[in-house]
Order: sequence, then structure tokens, then C-alpha cells
Amino acid sequence: MATLRFQALQETFHRVPVTVHEPERRSSIFGKNVFNEAAMRQYLTKDSYNSVMDAIENGSKIARGMADHISTGMKEWAISKGATHYTHWFQPLTGATAEKHDAFFETVGNGQTIEKFGGGQLVQQEPDASSFPNGGIRNTFEARGYTAWDPTSPAFIYGTTLCIPTVFVSYTGEALDYKTPLLRALQTIDQAATAVAKYFDKNVSKVNATLGWEQEYFLIDKALVAARPDIALSGRTLLGHASAKGQQLDDHYFGSIPTRVLNYMRDLETECMYLGIPVKTRHNEVAPNQFELAPIFEETNLAVDHNSLLMDVMDKVADRHNFKVLFHEKPFKGVNGSGKHNNWSLATNTGVNLLGPGSTPMKNLQFLTFFINTLKAVNEHEELLRASIASASNDHRLGANEAPPAIISAFIGSQLTEVLDELEKVTNGKLSPQEKTDLKLNVVGKIPEILLDNTDRNRTSPFAFTGNKFELRAVGSKANCANPMTVLNAIVAKQLMEFKEKVDSLIKNKKMKKDDAIFNVLREYIKDSKRIRFEGDGYGEAWEKEAKKRGLSNHKTTPEALKAKISKKSIALFEELGIMNKVEMEARYEIETEEYALRIQIEGRILGDIARNHVIPTAIRYQNILIENVQGLKDIYGTGFKKLAGEQMELIEQISEHIAKINNGITQMIEERKKANTVEDAEKRASAYCTKVKPYFDEIRYHCDKLELLVDDEIWPLPKYRELLFTR
Ligand code: ADP
Ligand code: MG
Repeated sequence: MATLRFQALQETFHRVPVTVHEPERRSSIFGKNVFNEAAMRQYLTKDSYNSVMDAIENGSKIARGMADHISTGMKEWAISKGATHYTHWFQPLTGATAEKHDAFFETVGNGQTIEKFGGGQLVQQEPDASSFPNGGIRNTFEARGYTAWDPTSPAFIYGTTLCIPTVFVSYTGEALDYKTPLLRALQTIDQAATAVAKYFDKNVSKVNATLGWEQEYFLIDKALVAARPDIALSGRTLLGHASAKGQQLDDHYFGSIPTRVLNYMRDLETECMYLGIPVKTRHNEVAPNQFELAPIFEETNLAVDHNSLLMDVMDKVADRHNFKVLFHEKPFKGVNGSGKHNNWSLATNTGVNLLGPGSTPMKNLQFLTFFINTLKAVNEHEELLRASIASASNDHRLGANEAPPAIISAFIGSQLTEVLDELEKVTNGKLSPQEKTDLKLNVVGKIPEILLDNTDRNRTSPFAFTGNKFELRAVGSKANCANPMTVLNAIVAKQLMEFKEKVDSLIKNKKMKKDDAIFNVLREYIKDSKRIRFEGDGYGEAWEKEAKKRGLSNHKTTPEALKAKISKKSIALFEELGIMNKVEMEARYEIETEEYALRIQIEGRILGDIARNHVIPTAIRYQNILIENVQGLKDIYGTGFKKLAGEQMELIEQISEHIAKINNGITQMIEERKKANTVEDAEKRASAYCTKVKPYFDEIRYHCDKLELLVDDEIWPLPKYRELLFTR
């Protein structure tokens, strides 16, 4: 009988690209399934339209009576588009999105039925959510969770379901999802940044944090994945010998996109257009079968929702095309992993990008203010930022010899480095007219509007300034962007508040002019945040040493990194800003450490199963063939057989050795798992899984991969790297 691997390969040979129908113009379908401004104008009364817009723009509350009007309009719109169900759509702490569909359809007695969707159903729901992770919050408080409408992210129709973006909170008010703290952080940065932006332009009344993510992923044929239990269950390969050809030739990056993949991308993009996700670029990535997709940036809350939605859509569309999308950060050993760069900036309601240099010295002073405050914020809270991107799967990138390293640092390029070096020399106190003129002409005035984007020269930086935005590159491809975006916006908000206080105090108490005061504070900040700036190679051991000298953290594993989430400093920060309280933070910490242990546990089990049930039996079968061969030679040649059977006998022995090592490794790993499982404390359990269980993975894998090289290809049951990476 053919192995599952050969059946799967057979299937892939016969794949025909799925035909994709492109609409005539993408712009004609953009946002068609979104209850956006245009749809609201058509389906809502003037009053209810205004109240939604007011909620979006100013965060005002929508009155309950008004919600009834809005829900009616929304329902009519949804039904006109063929929707039959509605759901509150939210992002629980599992990292995925959650939904529970209810039909609009209701009976009203006498066999009569109507389509019903009231304000109550729009505004609030109580999903039976007891099995979402909550870190003990709901048990402690004996409170139930409910979802509440977030009008700042528009409702949309997916399939035949009206999806209403919501937050998920307990009745005692604790956040049970990713969105709630994000919204709080975004509100905080709006206030803090607006106050500072007013130094430069009184007309600024709102600042939006913007986010443009870049999603990397692998596309693997569905049949091949079905024959790889490790990929199917954990999203990555736990064993598999490197392919003779990998990414050495760099011939995949930006190369022509294979037809089957292109059809998938086109289909996906059409879906995205309907959903109002403004996807713009697509290309091959560095590794074979690795790709990237990026949208036009948006306001952060919407961008986060769109990324979560996109990942779900990608999965579904891939299925139609007989692909499986791998979002895992490191599906294949020895080839590039995937990340999700988070491009971040701040935009005013007057249309100014606060991290974009301008055409006048004053505009550039504004730019420098936000730029330097961001550096200072990251310098102060690098550990918390590192914690926000920690996960079992992202550990395979950060600190594991793959860009970026686990050390957070900021790359700003040589032009801005020179500017900061000059600014650092500013006099302490009031500036003379000559000095001011010099500064304006020779330093601030010299920043070109368009900065050289020299970041391609430094792909190893986890946080790089790229001309008019910062790019947080350390986010994992699988991650929900809300987590790092909550932290980044919170720490910058806190920093801007401190800045404002200092500048105001210099103006008031030292009678300084506004720009004198700003220069003075910025000078101090430049000095204070020097240690976070690093322009060199983030890979090397040299940087690790240097970073240690500078006192920067270097947490290579998730259990280590996560601790910063509940440090005194972090709790004080989030409590002060009203983003999360101690209970919420500790709950999240527990969930994340628990999740870490579970992920390693699952991987350990899968690896043990595959090694014992697939690899070893196959190796024995091949060994038997060799034994038969040796026996046959002996029968024919008698004592002279040894000269002819030497190689075979050596192979027989090698196979036995590898089998013994694998068995031994698995037995010991299981012992360590048993011990780890008895550890009560979640933090210690995660640590045991990290330091005691996980190290066996490499050992077991090493011997399995050796066997893969020895054993007859025809009987090897698992699709090999060359097949997974080069079939398309
Ligand atoms: P490239 O690096 O390919 O030249 P860009 O620099 O325009 O492209 O953008 C890369 C990513 O950064 C895109 O996802 C884009 O949406 C995002 N981006 C661009 N400007 C901003 C901004 N001001 N705020 C947030 N994201 C941005
Ligand atoms: Mg990028």
C-alpha cells in the first residue's frame, strides 16, 4: 500500500488552479459588506446617524432609545445583503476571534414569524463564555462576561452573518479580551498626543494612532499537511531534515508568484475588498512558499480588527484553493520564519503625520518632539514591550538566531543620529538668539522632508524608524496586534504626559519661551534614551554583550519575558493610565504562562507520537530489509559475505543507535512532563516546560532527521521539507 505521503503527493500533482472571477474594478466593491458611512446614511435616520458618528469621533455614548433605531437600520441593510444571522464578534484571550450566531428570524405566535434585531441585541449580549480563558477573573468575582458593541469599528457581513465588533468584559468591569485595553490605550494616547500637538497647532483636537501591519505566512498544500500530524496539530514541523535546496539562492524573494498562489491571493483580496480591508501589496517572501500581504494603514483599532478578520478569511479562502495557511512564526527549521511588522504612527485630525518631518523648522520641532518621546518611552519600557510580543511560537524567532533579536533597541538611521547628536549640545536653560537661529537653520531646518529609508540596511532591528513611522518588527505572525499596540501606545502616552508637564513647568517657573523649554527637555531625553539606540548588527554576540552593559533586557524565552507584565513598574503604569488594573494584569499573565506550558506540552506529545508511531516503525521496516539482504548474502556467499555486507551491517547498527536515542529521549521527556504537570504554580510550570521538557525536542528531532536520511525514500511516511516547501 502506498504511504499517506505518496497519496498526498499524488493529490498535489493533480491540482488544478481554482478559477477566480475578478470584479471589474476593486474600488467598485470596496466596503460593500460594511455598514460604513455611506450605508449608514442610507439606512439610518439623521439623528441616529449623527449619534453613531459622534460616538466614533468623540467617544460619546449612544442612548438606548437611539440604539433601537440604529439596530433597525442595520438589520434592514443586512437583510438586503442576504444576511440571515447576526453575531457579536470579539477577540477573547485565546488570540482567535469568537462568534456565536443567532438568527434574525423569530416566531411571534399563531405561526407568524418576523425578522427581529432590537437595540438590546445590538448593544449587549451574554455569550456562554465560561470556557474562554479569564485567568480566574470570572471565578473570583463570580461574575459573568458580556459583550458590548464597539461603534468605532463598523459592523460587517461575513458569509450570511452580520458581525458586530464588540468588547468582552466581566460584569465587574474587568477586560476579558484584547480590545478593551487597546481602546483604553488609544484614548489615552489621543489625549496625551493632542495636548502636546497643541504646542504646535492649536487646531488639533484629536490624534489617532495608526497601524499598518504586514502579514507574513506560508502556504502549504492541504493534502501534504494532512499527512503531517505535527503541522496539522501545532502549525509547525517538529521534525524533518533540511531540503538540499532551501532559500540559499534567494530566488523566491519578490520572484514571480506561482499561478495557484496568485489565484488564492486574488480570491482573498476580493473577499477583503468586500469587507473593507484595504489590502494593497502582495509578494513572495524570503523562504520558499512564504508570502506577505499588507494593507494601507488605518486607525489602530480598526487595523487590529481587520488583521484578526483577515487571518480568519485567509484560512477559509485557502481551504477553497486546497491550501493550508501557516501563521506560525517558525514552521520550518532552517528557513526564515514569519513576522507581522507593525508600522505605527500618530495622525492628527488636521491631517498631519506627527512622525513625518515637515517643510519648516517648527514642523520639524514637532516631529522631533514625537520622535524623541517615542524613543524615550521605548527606552523606559523596553521590557514591557518585549513581554507584549512573547509567545511560545515567537520564541523561535526572538533570540533564536533569527531577526530580530530578543533585545529591544531602536534604529533611526545616520541622518537622524546626526540631528540628535547636535541637539544634545543645546545649552542648559534659555537659548541665545544666535543659538536659536543656528538650531533652526543648521539642525532642525536641515531635516529633509523625505528621509532616506536606509532601514533595508538594518533588517535586524526590532524597532526601526522608517522615514515617517516606526516599525515594530518583533511581533509574531500569529499574534493579535492588540497586545503590542496597547503597550506601545500606552508607554508613548505616558511619556508625552511627562514631557508636557516638564515643558509647562519650565515655561511657568523658569519663564522660558515655549521652544526653549521644548529644546531643553528634548536634550535631556536624548541623553536619557541613548542606550536604546543601536544602529549595528542585532544578530551578533557583540551586541548581546553591549546590550548587557547598557542594562537592556535580553529575555530569550517566553516565561522569562512575560514576567515584566506584572512588574511593579508595569502595574503602576497601566493603573495610572486606567488601561488595566492589577487583577486584569495578573489574570492575563496567568493565561499567557498557562498557554505557554500547554503549547509545549502539546508539541511534546505530538513529537513523541510521531517519533514512536511513524519514524521508529518505518526505520525498523527498513532495517528488516537490510537484515534480509545481509542474510541473503550470507546464504549465497557463506563466510565471504562480510566483504559484501559491511555497509549494510553498519547501517543496521546506525539505525538501532538512532532508535535507541529517540526512545530514550522520549521516555525522559515524558518523565519531565509528568513532573512539570504536578507543579501547581503556573509560572513555575511554564518555566519547567521551558527548561526541562523543551530541550528534549532537539535531541529527539536530531535522531529522527538522521533516520530520514538513512531510510528508503519510498517507505518514509511524512512529506519531506522539499515537498512541503516546493510544491505549489
Ligand atoms: P514600503 O516600505 O513597502 O515602501 P510603506 O513604507 O508605504 O511601504 O509602508 C509599509 C507599511 O507601513 C504598509 O503596511 C503601510 O500601510 C504602513 N504605513 C505607512 N505609513 C504609515 C503610517 N503613517 N502609520 C502606520 N502605518 C503606515
Ligand atoms: Mg516591513
